[in-house]
Amino acid sequence: MAVVQKEQLAQRFAEIRQRVYAACKHANRDPDEICLVAVSKRHSADLVRDAYALGQRDFGENYVQELVDKAEQLKDLTDLRWHFIGHLQRNKAKKIIELGAQLQTLDSFSLLQELNRRCSSSAQKLQVWVQVNLAEEPQKSGCKPQELPRLISKVKESQWLKLQGLMLIPPAEIPENNALWFERLRKLGESLGVTRFSMGMSADFEIAIAAGSTCVRIGTDLFGTRA
Ligand SMILES: *Cc1c(COP(=O)(O)O)cnc(C)c1O
Repeated sequence: MAVVQKEQLAQRFAEIRQRVYAACKHANRDPDEICLVAVSKRHSADLVRDAYALGQRDFGENYVQELVDKAEQLKDLTDLRWHFIGHLQRNKAKKIIELGAQLQTLDSFSLLQELNRRCSSSAQKLQVWVQVNLAEEPQKSGCKPQELPRLISKVKESQWLKLQGLMLIPPAEIPENNALWFERLRKLGESLGVTRFSMGMSADFEIAIAAGSTCVRIGTDLFGTRA
């Protein structure tokens, strides 16, 4: 699957919206509960603009510099919402705050402290999702499940950070097996009073919706393969 051409984009978005709708119907859920984040990493700003013209407003990026460049090229689209979904190094936190992006990958106390410090010095709020490394995979970012309660309470204590929900990148190999991880995250979150969950990508978003996802992050199925 190559990069999607402008002419195909409307059909791709229509297909994905239809699949989100069908997955919700199947799970007896309201489709309005689901935020579709179009993951535009390694695709051009022009393609984002085309998707915006189709009514898409939420976009996900993984790399700070790429996000900064795209946001600059698209700054006339004032109601476009950026979601940062890559690992964030502390020394780049300032950029995410300046852009007003949602941070989906808060995963440590040291990052939280840096965000607090930066937000308070510029008097800016930041919407955050706490990323959980539920399977405790050594190579993956995300906080440990046992660190989650304290991290959540620290976010809630902060006057600058606004908790959106929990985010998960499960062990990917077999999409069907991810149902277990999705359900575990939802139960863990609910036990801590969290009701929103960012989980599900191209290969498994229907499974994630069945398990309670409220935010799906879809790249390949919308935009084609990445450069
Ligand atoms: C790239 C990426 C996605 C999108 O993945 P696709 O399989 O292309 O839909 C979603 N979430 C995160 C965190 C990603 O890095």
